Amino acid sequence: MDALARLRSRMAGDGISAMLVSDPVNVGWLTGFSGTFGRVLVTPNDALFITDSRYVLQAREEVLGMDTASFGSPTDGDVFVAEKAISLGIEKLGFESATTTYSQWKRTSEKMAGVELEPVADIFSDLRMTKSADEIAKIKVACGIADAAFEHVIRMIQPGVTEIDICLDLEFYMRRQGADIAFPSIVVSGERSARPHGKPSEKKLEVGDFVTMDFGARVDGYNSDITRTVVVGQASPRHREVYAAVLEAQLWALDAIRAGAKARDVDGGTREILGKSDLAKYFGHGLGHGLGRVVHDGGRLSAMSDNVIEPGQIWTIEPGVYIEGFGGVRIEDDVLITETGIEILTHSTKELLILPQA
Ligand code: ZN
Ligand code: ZN
Repeated sequence: MDALARLRSRMAGDGISAMLVSDPVNVGWLTGFSGTFGRVLVTPNDALFITDSRYVLQAREEVLGMDTASFGSPTDGDVFVAEKAISLGIEKLGFESATTTYSQWKRTSEKMAGVELEPVADIFSDLRMTKSADEIAKIKVACGIADAAFEHVIRMIQPGVTEIDICLDLEFYMRRQGADIAFPSIVVSGERSARPHGKPSEKKLEVGDFVTMDFGARVDGYNSDITRTVVVGQASPRHREVYAAVLEAQLWALDAIRAGAKARDVDGGTREILGKSDLAKYFGHGLGHGLGRVVHDGGRLSAMSDNVIEPGQIWTIEPGVYIEGFGGVRIEDDVLITETGIEILTHSTKELLILPQA
């Protein structure tokens, strides 16, 4: 079933007779459109893509299998959408309450005389969790570029190089492969590696530093998200102990995550493993998240999660330990859930690398 058919089936199940889709992430998922302004009117029998004059040519290329309409100055976009809705016989129109701001809603509802706007809870992040073959293929390309970027950047890791230099090199490499940056890359070293989401700084790498790099590529709107931690110069017994514990937890989770598993159990199991070496108290974030058009997409592997793992989903598995005054380790892979197991989509080595290599 394509995205439109899946949306219609969900709308039918939830008793929604018509939807206005406006969040660029959801518009992109539904139509393939990558511009910033698109609207889609969806009913059981009609689907109309609407954009403005800036995107007419782009929409012709990207939006296939759906009627399109466009407007230009001096037409008001909301009035135009309202007219189209009325011409499709829509009386009640669901809107995305999770991503529509109050002022957008107010403006649109004032202009949409004759159409009643109804809030619809976020059904899209649910729908987006199950990936099509085409989406999986794009995420695999994005993962391949992230792996290649890691392979590339480890060659420049040595004492004296700054975190910012490493970050720039990672990002330049991914851009040069034709990808976008999935999110601002994290490169943190030494004591700074105890900051799970630290920003790269002018700090120079020193012998005995952990260096944690968390980055991803975006290809045709689909993201990868990988983290590796390496050591500069020489690893102490404490480096090895902490790294081995995080790796053991990560490998355990890769083994435990299967169709039918509960997200919270997978998260909990890794905490038990880290608990054996008294490191669970340093693991403050969730084990992973859904990955797709959004880096932190629908779905969480955490103690609070109600998610159940299903085939077609893509998850990150990223346990971490962050010890103030010492440093931190995170190891993150992206995995596709299949009918029979998992496919790991990121392939960079997880052996503890001590760099530069002799
Ligand atoms: Zn990450
Ligand atoms: Zn992540």
